[in-house]
Amino acid sequence: MTGLTSIRETHEVPARTGRGFAVETGELIRITDLQGSQPVDFWAFTRADHLEFLSCEHTKPSIERLFPHVGDSAYTNRRRAIVTVVDDTSPGQHDMQFAACDPTRYAELGVEGYHESCQENLHTALAGLGIGLDFTPQPWNLFTNFFVNPDGTFTIKAPESKPGDCIVLRAEMDATIVVSACPQDQNLTCGGTPTDIRVEVGR
Ligand SMILES: [Zn+2]
Repeated sequence: MTGLTSIRETHEVPARTGRGFAVETGELIRITDLQGSQPVDFWAFTRADHLEFLSCEHTKPSIERLFPHVGDSAYTNRRRAIVTVVDDTSPGQHDMQFAACDPTRYAELGVEGYHESCQENLHTALAGLGIGLDFTPQPWNLFTNFFVNPDGTFTIKAPESKPGDCIVLRAEMDATIVVSACPQDQNLTCGGTPTDIRVEVGR
């Protein structure tokens, strides 16, 4: 396991909720799937300008693969590296294809009335940091096993991450980070049951 000999802050993030926090260039962010099979929607915005943020569509051409592996960075919409994967004890499925869950998605899946969503968690966390954003960037879906089949279709599979699996990212810029413990309980995205995550920040 890489680094994090000195932990500056820890965020315990209960199932279905989100958190926002600041990181400095060079800090490490360890995200742990505490009970296994729990996707984490991950956003990163540059502190200098929140309209520059981690962009999946800009990352994929830069790394020439569907999502970053250890040693790869994720890039902003201005094509600058914002985080780099420095360690990963999970099976390494970190989807970059799909939008955050939102109220419309739950209505599409037949939910009547209120349902928590990663989109709401993002904007609640940003508001807590004094940041307003009138759109929702596509998140990087950590521990998310949306499997792309050879014929171009995909299959929503349960995550194969085990309890305690983690990914460690290094911040390449001063950034505002938001994570959401995805509340998707209408299909296999979260293995059927949304659970808790932990995020640690340090050096
Ligand atoms: Zn979600």
